[in-house]
Amino acid sequence: MTAAVIDGKAFAATLRARVGDLARAFEEKAGRKAGLAVVLVGEDPASQVYVRSKGKSTLEAGMASFEHKLPADTAEADLLALVERLNADPAVDGILVQLPLPAHMDEQKIIATIAPDKDVDGFHVINAGRLAVGQPGYVPCTPLGCLMLLKDKLGDLSGLDAVVIGRSNIVGKPMAQLLLAESCTVTIAHSRTKNLPDVVRRADIVVAAVGRPQMVKGDWIKPGATVIDVGINRIPAAEEGKTRLVGDVDYAEAAQVAGAITPVPGGVGPMTIAVLLRNALVAAYRHEGLELAPDAI
Ligand code: NAD
Repeated sequence: MTAAVIDGKAFAATLRARVGDLARAFEEKAGRKAGLAVVLVGEDPASQVYVRSKGKSTLEAGMASFEHKLPADTAEADLLALVERLNADPAVDGILVQLPLPAHMDEQKIIATIAPDKDVDGFHVINAGRLAVGQPGYVPCTPLGCLMLLKDKLGDLSGLDAVVIGRSNIVGKPMAQLLLAESCTVTIAHSRTKNLPDVVRRADIVVAAVGRPQMVKGDWIKPGATVIDVGINRIPAAEEGKTRLVGDVDYAEAAQVAGAITPVPGGVGPMTIAVLLRNALVAAYRHEGLELAPDAI
């Protein structure tokens, strides 16, 4: 048996096109563009790539992009002041502070300063709390993207056994909350979990968000299960001096057993920015008090 490949790249392209249509409709109704501000502190190469690509995608979706690049030695107070300015700016619907921040800054303090109604990353405790109690808010982009892929593939998730490997605040925990809200029976596995392969073998849905290359093996997967691989790991390639990206799942093995699986790259990765644009657009509609049907996006 060979698993169906879940094409996150194609799904993300469709989502971005839908966001683009709704962004145009927003501009007509509101007389302004929806706006997303991205703040980058320092010169971390991966973060620079992410920020550039977020800015480009924002413009492509017909939204206004505000990029703020600050030097690595920026004082925490200056970053906090910038966030406060963006909170007060009516042209800015969403604020994203690219993580990780330099070591002299307190990430939690910065996140806590972002207005919850502009927190399109969904990292503020208010939004984490809203997700936990089932109130509308903003959900972290990567797990929301995973849920969209799962619902697209499986339809109703109710009653399915889901195992989320990883308990980070940005992926594992919100992923588990989302699956619980869909009435899955959810297990959160992590670095201290005993007999991880046996735990994973129970799952109809496996979400791997660990950061360990190809850790989840084919014989951990229940035949026919749906596997969502969030991991992005760079390992040496066969060709001398080159590297390649792999997920947290041993794709070649798991694809022989699973019913459906996301590849790396081209699975979860492209969903993250698409969902970020979606969240920013939802924020814009909410800020203007405009109606947006719950299933519009
Ligand atoms: P993290 O380091 O914050 O959390 C990793 C989690 O894995 C921890 O909760 C830990 O308990 C668990 N873990 C570690 N070793 C384990 C083991 N041996 N067995 C079981 N669990 C173990 O990472 P994160 O930010 O949640 O990211 C996880 C992965 O997802 C990384 O590869 C990251 O690059 C990737 N990621 C991808 C996207 C995307 O857009 N596709 C977004 C965010 C993160």
